[in-house]
Amino acid sequence: MRRRGLLAAPALALLPRSAFAADLDVAIVGAGVAGLAAAKTLIAKGKRVLVVEARNRIGGRTFTDTSLGFPFDMGAAGLVPGSALARELGAKAAPLPLAGAILVNGKELNREDYERYDKVSAELARKIAEVHKLAPDIDPRQVVVPKDPLERVALTELLWRPPFQGEQDVPEGVGLLVARWAAHVPVKTGTRVVRIDSTEPLVRIVTPGGDVQARAVIVTAPVGVLAANAIGFAPPLKADKRAAIAALPMALSDKVAVGLSGHAIDAPADARVMALTQQGRVLQVIARPGGRNGGIVLAQGDEARQLEANGPSAAGAWGLSALVEIFGKTLRAAFAGAVASRWGLDVYARGAWSVARPGQAGERDRIVLAQPHDGRLFFAGEATEGGDLAGAHSSGVRAATEALTVLARR
Ligand SMILES: Cc1cc2nc3c(=O)[nH]c(=O)nc-3n(C[C@H](O)[C@H](O)[C@H](O)COP(=O)(O)OP(=O)(O)OC[C@H]3O[C@@H](n4cnc5c(N)ncnc54)[C@H](O)[C@@H]3O)c2cc1C
Repeated sequence: MRRRGLLAAPALALLPRSAFAADLDVAIVGAGVAGLAAAKTLIAKGKRVLVVEARNRIGGRTFTDTSLGFPFDMGAAGLVPGSALARELGAKAAPLPLAGAILVNGKELNREDYERYDKVSAELARKIAEVHKLAPDIDPRQVVVPKDPLERVALTELLWRPPFQGEQDVPEGVGLLVARWAAHVPVKTGTRVVRIDSTEPLVRIVTPGGDVQARAVIVTAPVGVLAANAIGFAPPLKADKRAAIAALPMALSDKVAVGLSGHAIDAPADARVMALTQQGRVLQVIARPGGRNGGIVLAQGDEARQLEANGPSAAGAWGLSALVEIFGKTLRAAFAGAVASRWGLDVYARGAWSVARPGQAGERDRIVLAQPHDGRLFFAGEATEGGDLAGAHSSGVRAATEALTVLARR
């Protein structure tokens, strides 16, 4: 008896101490919608939970900026009406946005042109799908060459189309609703996880400020963060998990919101406009968000990358000149400020949302990514379920349910 006691003492002394919380059932990495949904599910089951978040705020890729005098969602801005997340967030039911207006050289298309646009768009979509199937590594723009301005706008719209559609606007701001929804969840913000060690009796989360230990861990960091090896794992992730991470790269999408000092844009509230301007640019804009004086200009892919590299003031100038090209020069005098997202340079996002490689469905990779690692380490986040907010939410609930099975083994 005595000998066993002596042996046990140093072993206990060697156990790393938790710097933030003792006796946790589950620690969750990342306070985006996935991590917060996981935490809320576990809290509802009476479990002791801590979310560890690198940023100084919760919400991840949902964040509402209000500095321009109107709610500007820098990340996700729409919700699937009637979805579990929309209900939980208490989002008011709102009509789906109307199909966007299309302008070429300052003039909106007439009815005939719209009909032709729809046909051209369907034909181009077919050609793009064929390119993806036959030559997945080739950018469809190298093969599918638009013959006229209408085709150019249609091609750009197709290539920019995000995976989430049929979503209602959220006038209050998705980010603000998420922050309110999860206000009671215990989150340790400003705490970057660098390593997760599941080789010990408790799973250990290592951060520069100390360790957190829990019986199970849920990782919700974006797949771009995992691909950059920003979080180490012991034992290391298996080859199929690493392959799945590599097969789900992050698409890039940014927004520039421009505030205006008066009613300088003559358009209905929340009007979506796609325009080929006289300067030869295809621009995508949301005019007068929530009926406020301003506009939101969207940028994708290489253009977004360039904007981020040029810095915030250049992005503001780009946003203003986009609005001027569409709505006229008088608008310049009403400029009251601009705010731009930079999701690509954001080391805690490394892009906007995960996508499958061209020509691939990505479903198998998402399933592999979602599989537990080493029994007590679970994976959630949009990349494990469809790339959008609804997927992030249901993945958090799913991972929490998986973690509960480990806790039940006590
Ligand atoms: C511009 C843009 C527009 C979008 N529009 C829509 C839309 O209209 N509809 C829609 O459904 N979806 C949209 N999305 C996608 C949607 O925002 C995401 O799918 C969703 O928010 C992802 O949630 P998540 O919890 O999986 O990840 P995240 O929200 O990214 O949460 C992960 C968390 O992990 C944290 N983290 C990262 N690394 C570490 C670390 N080392 N240690 C600790 N914490 C870490 C991050 O800071 C973050 O808070 C949009 C995204 C963008 C960028």
